[in-house]
Parts: sequence; C-alpha cells; structure tokens
Amino acid sequence: MQKNYCLECKAEVTGDTKTCECGGRSFVFGDLKITDGEVTCECGCKEIKTTCHMDFTDKYLNSGACVKCGKPIGIETYRTGEDALWWG
Ligand SMILES: [Zn+2]
Ligand SMILES: [Zn+2]
Repeated sequence: MQKNYCLECKAEVTGDTKTCECGGRSFVFGDLKITDGEVTCECGCKEIKTTCHMDFTDKYLNSGACVKCGKPIGIETYRTGEDALWWG
C-alpha cells in the first residue's frame, strides 16, 4: 500500500505534505512500513537503489527501488525558502 512518511520523525503524512509537524521536509513514499522505528520497504528491506534524480523549483525528488523486491520508492525533499531563492 502506498504510504508517505516523514524521514525526520517517521510519522505518516499525506502525499501533499510539504512540511511535517516536526519541521521535517524530507519524505519517503512507496509501499512502505515502519520496522523498529525505521521506514523500510514492505518486504522489510531498508536499502533503496536510487535510479533517478529530478529537480523542481520547490523540491527535488530521488526515485528508486527496493534492492530486494524492486518495488518503486521515492524520496522527495522540499527546499527551504532560502534554497528556493536560487531557483527564483
Ligand atoms: Zn516529521
Ligand atoms: Zn522490498
């Protein structure tokens, strides 16, 4: 099942969250679950092979896949206001 988690506090968030309640701006999404307080693939694997990096004005996105089962996993990081200036 598709889930979105904050990488800072590991809280589940909605897909359109840009800043977590903890202030975190990095989110991981895909077929994920929490194992021992860490975000892992649904198969339990913690390793992601990153295959693609994309830059957007307000965020950047690393997409990849679980090294074990190959399910797609993405990590998106929203830029802070200061970072965004470089792209304005
Ligand atoms: Zn958070
Ligand atoms: Zn997996």
